[in-house]
Amino acid sequence: LMPLIELKELKTYFRTDKGLARAVDGVNFSIKRERTLGVVGESGSGKSVTAMSIMGLIPNPPGSIEGGEILFRHKGQTIDLSKLPSNGSKMRSIRGNEIAMIFQEPMTSLNPVFTIGDQISEALILHEGLSKKDAKDEAIKMLEEVGIPLPAQRFDEYPHQLSGGMRQRAMIAMALSCNPALLIADEPTTALDVTIQAQVLELMNRLQEEHRTAIMFITHDLGVIANMADDVVVMYLGRIVESACVRDVFHNPRHPYTQGLMKSIPSLTASREDRLKPIKGVVPDLVNIPPGCGFEPRCPNAMPICREKRPVLREIAPGHQVSCWLELK
Ligand code: SF4
Ligand code: MG
Repeated sequence: LMPLIELKELKTYFRTDKGLARAVDGVNFSIKRERTLGVVGESGSGKSVTAMSIMGLIPNPPGSIEGGEILFRHKGQTIDLSKLPSNGSKMRSIRGNEIAMIFQEPMTSLNPVFTIGDQISEALILHEGLSKKDAKDEAIKMLEEVGIPLPAQRFDEYPHQLSGGMRQRAMIAMALSCNPALLIADEPTTALDVTIQAQVLELMNRLQEEHRTAIMFITHDLGVIANMADDVVVMYLGRIVESACVRDVFHNPRHPYTQGLMKSIPSLTASREDRLKPIKGVVPDLVNIPPGCGFEPRCPNAMPICREKRPVLREIAPGHQVSCWLELK
């Protein structure tokens, strides 16, 4: 079976005052049906821009997709999303209907001036063609499904009347109301406290099974990836530096950046000082990417060649790809 979505050499650039920022620079990955791909990296790695490219939401100007393909295979068709006009009817119908997105901040997708219920039923009327009455019944069912207590009462409440965790659940209900084939989740639990975060992740896992949705899960938190992902890509400076199944990423990370991320996972048993070991150094400016390996300025294993030549992504074991000179020698 072909993957649901496949990115081939995707390039999304932004024109800035300082020069051309190569936010996504030749990214390849695919997501299989009903599976979860974790996309990991620090801010500025290109995770969110990749998601926005898939959704057709790159603001142009200053941004544009400069190359590559985003092949979406659904209902017997293959559509290259990168070639669709952002606001054309085709992209608008795919967005929300076939591909939905949830964010860290629910208020970016929930409208503060409409009730929760109206927003979910509006989506159902628009995308599923339900009557007003049926849409209301269905929306209440969705609110119940995502674990919102007293759903019939909550239907008439506004987003600000809900707690952060409940708003996140309402946003998930809205995203899933049209049964999307792909759900893109961009740091959906980052703003929540640990207990609520665990509940929302569990909810997403359960809903994924029931709705058979594929998920692209974007996070900087490898702990979340361990709970959610089947496969993982690690991004740095707009490129993929390592790609593997979740087990290999945790038990056999090969790129020094991935190894650094693993060490930065807070461990509950370690002493306070040892708990967080952030990777030293800062992410270079996207308009001044080093000519060799982008991670070289921060890499504890850097060698002379790393500064001169960019390593390519190479398969080092079945399903495990790494771009690092340590693996290319
Ligand atoms: Fe470090 Fe060199 Fe590998 Fe880059 S290519 S991650 S600098 S060892
Ligand atoms: Mg982001």
